[in-house]
Amino acid sequence: MLQEIIDRSRRIVFFTGAGVSTPSGIPDFRGEGGLFSGEVEEGLTAEMILSRSFFYLHPEKFFAFYRARMLFPDALPNAAHRAIYALERAGKLRGVVTQNIDGLHKRAGNRLVYEVHGSVWENYCMDCNAFYGLEKILHSEGIPRCERCGGVVKPWVVLYGEAPDKYTCMGACREISNCDALIVAGTSLSVEPAASFLEYFHGKHLVVINREPTPADGGASLVIRGDAAEALGKLKIP
Ligand code: NAD
Ligand code: ZN
Repeated sequence: MLQEIIDRSRRIVFFTGAGVSTPSGIPDFRGEGGLFSGEVEEGLTAEMILSRSFFYLHPEKFFAFYRARMLFPDALPNAAHRAIYALERAGKLRGVVTQNIDGLHKRAGNRLVYEVHGSVWENYCMDCNAFYGLEKILHSEGIPRCERCGGVVKPWVVLYGEAPDKYTCMGACREISNCDALIVAGTSLSVEPAASFLEYFHGKHLVVINREPTPADGGASLVIRGDAAEALGKLKIP
């Protein structure tokens, strides 16, 4: 039972994906009705548009899609995020390794967050590295430009074909290799290298909470096939 595993573990790490944020109204990619379920524009899939080469070749189209489909500034943390924050407050959590770019773990209060694929809340000028918040992207049209130097402002989001930040990955793998319970929630585990981080786990309990089967189910001590917010929301955390 999940409650028992949580009660007995002192070094818990969460590994989360888009499914943790669907109850906040943000669609996932590969779940039912997800963004990857078909063509999103003539001849183009979301995966093609959200790629490094598309960004450089067609930045205007990239930003139009990105603004329309990837940004949910009003989404709020749900019961899953809140439970994970409660575990950090209770001193039982070593970190949250997330593939999500929505910033909701930080918004819930967590500090020990490894955003492996970046965050829509951080944007940088590609020429002078000036920082911009999400408003910059929301309140500009076409290609967002730096107010200092005119360079293109790029979201700190890891696109297909780009490598995630080395230090974030190192920190994430370190926490996974040191934890006694790893709870994988709301991810299809189909994006690399993030999915392979699980190989660093040598602890006691691997838990998978997902609506659909995942490649990690076979090696898990507990599989909960259901809603992450529901499963985590009913935990009693001191
Ligand atoms: P995915 O779409 O590949 O898989 C999501 C999984 O979560 C599916 O297996 C689905 O069945 C399951 N799921 C959906 N809602 C659930 C719920 N309420 N409870 C339990 N399970 C649920 O997502 P992924 O594995 O995170 O990979 C997608 C990539 O796309 C990530 O790298 C991420 O950066 C990006 N992405 C991020 C967001 C976000 O930030 N919220 C949203 C979509 C995609
Ligand atoms: Zn600049």
